[in-house]
Amino acid sequence: MSCGAAPRIVMKFGGTSVSNLDRIRKVAQTVKRQVEVGCEVAVVVSAMSGVTNQLVEYCQTLNPLFDSCEYDSIVATGEQVTSGLLAIALQTMGIKARSWAGWQVPILTDDAHGKARINQIDASALIRCMKEGIVPVVAGFQGVDHCNRVSTLGRGGSDTSAVALAASLKATRCDIYTDVDGIYTTDPRIVKKAKRIKAIAYEEMLELASVGAKVLQTRSVELAMKEQVRVQVLSSFEDHDSSKEECLPGSLVVSEDEIVEKEQVTGIAYSLNEAKIVVKGIPDLPGIASSIFAPLAEANINVDMIVQSSGTNQTTDMTFTVPKTDLLRAKDILEKAQNIIKFNQLITDENVVKISVVGIGMRSHTGVANIMFKTLAERSINVQVISTSEIKVSVIVAAEYVELAVRALHTAYGLDKMND
Ligand code: ADP
Ligand code: ASP
Ligand code: MG
Repeated sequence: MSCGAAPRIVMKFGGTSVSNLDRIRKVAQTVKRQVEVGCEVAVVVSAMSGVTNQLVEYCQTLNPLFDSCEYDSIVATGEQVTSGLLAIALQTMGIKARSWAGWQVPILTDDAHGKARINQIDASALIRCMKEGIVPVVAGFQGVDHCNRVSTLGRGGSDTSAVALAASLKATRCDIYTDVDGIYTTDPRIVKKAKRIKAIAYEEMLELASVGAKVLQTRSVELAMKEQVRVQVLSSFEDHDSSKEECLPGSLVVSEDEIVEKEQVTGIAYSLNEAKIVVKGIPDLPGIASSIFAPLAEANINVDMIVQSSGTNQTTDMTFTVPKTDLLRAKDILEKAQNIIKFNQLITDENVVKISVVGIGMRSHTGVANIMFKTLAERSINVQVISTSEIKVSVIVAAEYVELAVRALHTAYGLDKMND
């Protein structure tokens, strides 16, 4: 059986899919099946599940304000182990394969260590490898900067490695194999009634990923949308013949014009990786926002939701969120800039969750935000910060309410009853 007109595919396997040698053998079989139906395959792998967390913890234990270049050289090792192991597993099954570290490809990135962006991939060596009938097994999540230092692409970055490779290899498809069988209306691990979405628009998936649906890393969706890479999310725990396009398993991420039914809310996501900072008693003067956010931007810290309360006695308060992993650095930076910002008090709260509802149908439906506020109020859940975009409403609430809030919203927006 042939695998279609342009049989080049990128197959990416996440951490749980390669969590032990049995899983790696199973992945090798999945790859072998694609090779045997005539596809040219490039594989991208993550570290075995838990490995990256362990490596991050080592760095944090030695020094919470660690050197990000060294951090990258440490955390990138997890993927290198898996790429070598999978290459051996494939060879053992009679499939020619070799491992590739990011720098060997090379995958060139900027120098924002810990969350580097891919600038360029020279795929010619990989193409030669595939033409020789050898399956390249590329270590995901990593690249190399212009100073020849190893870089990593941010947590979950192997998805981005895979999509970027699919774009530069001009692959027909980028298959993301994971531990769930597709993209759901919300995290199926916390809402049993979550429904699989067969096709989702790039834009919706981008919003969902950026607000916490970690099934795909945000940048991977951004890149897929820009390069029009066809992304399919499917389970590595089930056997399927993905060459049969007529009954596609999993979920496809596609252009908006391919989506017929535009629901008011397509999905709900949550992020526990948020921390709230309140800078209290700052002078209510022009330029004060910049004095807070400029040094944070300089340090590459992403500020997300921002609320400035109305001033009293010529002072005001600024509330905003940053990734939890950047909280210590953000606090340190703000304290060092106290003489410029002139705040009275700096309060931080890690005990929060951001919950977001997303849907392209929001453009044409009204009252979506109100359903959210009403549903949360009925459960006595206090909303601390709100932000909206054209297709998204996000709120910050106390972390203890995460499951209650997501389940209640899933029901309120009619997603429990959505047809699969
Ligand atoms: P991998 O290790 O394969 O990259 P991840 O753990 O990064 O896998 O992503 C898969 C996980 O994403 C699932 O186990 C699930 O708990 C979580 N998830 C969150 N939101 C969603 C969603 N809307 N649809 C599917 N999975 C989701
Ligand atoms: N191993 C990395 C992480 O855990 C990258 C990935 O899995 O995509 O974040
Ligand atoms: Mg992932």
